[in-house]
Amino acid sequence: MNLSTKRHSLAHIMAQAVKQNFPTVKIATGPDTEDWFYYDFDFGEVEFSDKDLKKVEKSMKKIVSQWQEFKKFEVNFDEARKIIDEMWEWFKNELVDKIESGDFKNTEKLSDKITFYINIGKGWKELPLQEYLKINNFEDFSEMDGNQVKNLKFIDMCTGPHVKNTLELDANSFKLARVAWAYWLGNAENKQLTRIYAYAFNDKAELDVHLKMLEEAKKRDHRILGQKLKLFTISELVGPGLPLMQPAWMVIRQEIENYLWELHSKVGYERVWSPHLAKESLYETSGHAGHYLEDMFSVFGWTSKEKFFLKPMNCPHHMQIFADNQFSYRDMPVRYFEPATVYRDEKSGQLSGLTRVRAITQDDGHLFCRVNQIKDEVKVITDIIKEYYGTLWMTKDYWVSLSVRWDDKEKYLGTDENWEKAEEALENASKENNLPYKRIEWEAAFYGPKLDFMFKDAIGREWQLATIQCDFNLPERFNLSFTNENNEQERPVVIHRAISGSLERWMWVLIEHFAWVFPMWMAPRQVIVVPVLPMFDDYAHSVMKDLKNAWIRANWDFSTDWLNKKVRNAEKMHNNYILVIWEQEVNDWTVSVRNYKTKEQTVEELEEFKTRILEEVKTRSL
Ligand SMILES: [Zn+2]
Ligand SMILES: [Zn+2]
Repeated sequence: MNLSTKRHSLAHIMAQAVKQNFPTVKIATGPDTEDWFYYDFDFGEVEFSDKDLKKVEKSMKKIVSQWQEFKKFEVNFDEARKIIDEMWEWFKNELVDKIESGDFKNTEKLSDKITFYINIGKGWKELPLQEYLKINNFEDFSEMDGNQVKNLKFIDMCTGPHVKNTLELDANSFKLARVAWAYWLGNAENKQLTRIYAYAFNDKAELDVHLKMLEEAKKRDHRILGQKLKLFTISELVGPGLPLMQPAWMVIRQEIENYLWELHSKVGYERVWSPHLAKESLYETSGHAGHYLEDMFSVFGWTSKEKFFLKPMNCPHHMQIFADNQFSYRDMPVRYFEPATVYRDEKSGQLSGLTRVRAITQDDGHLFCRVNQIKDEVKVITDIIKEYYGTLWMTKDYWVSLSVRWDDKEKYLGTDENWEKAEEALENASKENNLPYKRIEWEAAFYGPKLDFMFKDAIGREWQLATIQCDFNLPERFNLSFTNENNEQERPVVIHRAISGSLERWMWVLIEHFAWVFPMWMAPRQVIVVPVLPMFDDYAHSVMKDLKNAWIRANWDFSTDWLNKKVRNAEKMHNNYILVIWEQEVNDWTVSVRNYKTKEQTVEELEEFKTRILEEVKTRSL
């Protein structure tokens, strides 16, 4: 049984349980999401708070343990309205209107039927829907009657699918999580509703794993660690969604960029750079102005009186860099790399920490090649992705989504032949590289097929990170070409590729993935030297300078605090190595090393220690 079906069925059970406990409540909608499900309610004058969750959860468990069937009925719009009037569920009436006018978000095409599901108890009799409704009093769902027909428990308008019977659900597989606010149909002008969130999985064991993961994630929260370790700053004056990098974050980011460049430069990528704003005409040519306008920031030049846009993507700029060359087939593929910041006008309500930002730095790159070169190029990128995520200890349990075209071929841009070649190239590259891939139809963008890489972090959360996308659209729009063997102009295909995706989001992943200590090569605080008494300051200082000269990020604590406090402070800032200096160390030219991660303590000669950690940095070991 599909987990989404279970979650969705539980959403109805939640509504049923809420109605049992709060008979005057009006029910809205209740979809399932990636980890959970929710239902929106209008409690009217009645107050519903976190402490009512237990009560509802208890009723849900009771319902799930009972024998209760989900039975489907289809009626036309007028009948639907009559049923809803009897139910006094006016939100549903609005939905019927929306579905009829084709204005409901999930309705692909206008259907002439409305589906109701009723939940009936044991011993129900086969009857037309109207008969059930006639016999039952909607205001008292809690009543259980001996009468076999009077066994209607709950009715809701929904297209399904659901489980057949509540017996397929596990009463211990879900947990009500919290209460939130939400506007009816997500529109701020509409009524505010009470949303109840719940987690649900196949069984208790799965639920427990998830709850434990959440608890772990809370401890690792990047907003808290980011503050504690002074990694980034959110300034009210600068604005929401525009985090500022503190020196410690900049160290990590620079190391990430250096590593990425190292991986790209050796396989033929070249660095390019593009300004942060451009004329509207660029985005008209690329098509962004048509599709993307509401996410873009416009900029007005007071002197030039010209309007510009902050770039929402780097692709159009790179197209222009390519276009200014007269490439021949011998030059192909051409590969550009540019970690660059793009700007998107996200709603300010959704901006918090690094989860959603308005300035997004992509480790972006575009390569231009012939259709028959796609496979080899994808292999090169895949190698980079594997090495990169392998270094970060994230390749243990990953998978790749191969998004391909669906039957409705007119929706897509590019010739059938090229699509087939591109899809085949991506699939063959996936096979040859032993990628654990799944073919997913529908998911391809209109301009080409793609590979998306899903990696898991240290606590098992899945993140969509790297991506490789073929594009037939932009080369067309920018009229790009190169000269082929027959001296004709041939259109290249563009491959968009990103390894980390957004570096801001990637920082969020890294902070929570490495929570307690960053690997040496990226750690902003590699070594701190701690003299026990001021009389050892000179030696401590010379040790620090020596380490700094070897490009090691070292600092020293020359405060007059006691040793324990100095060590505690050093640990609080997650310094990878703490070097304690006593008289013995001064006399022997040694250092007492405390490894923050392993808690090991050793005494080493300074040179020996230096060589060891330089090796650790160089090999990017964990
Ligand atoms: Zn449903
Ligand atoms: Zn791109």
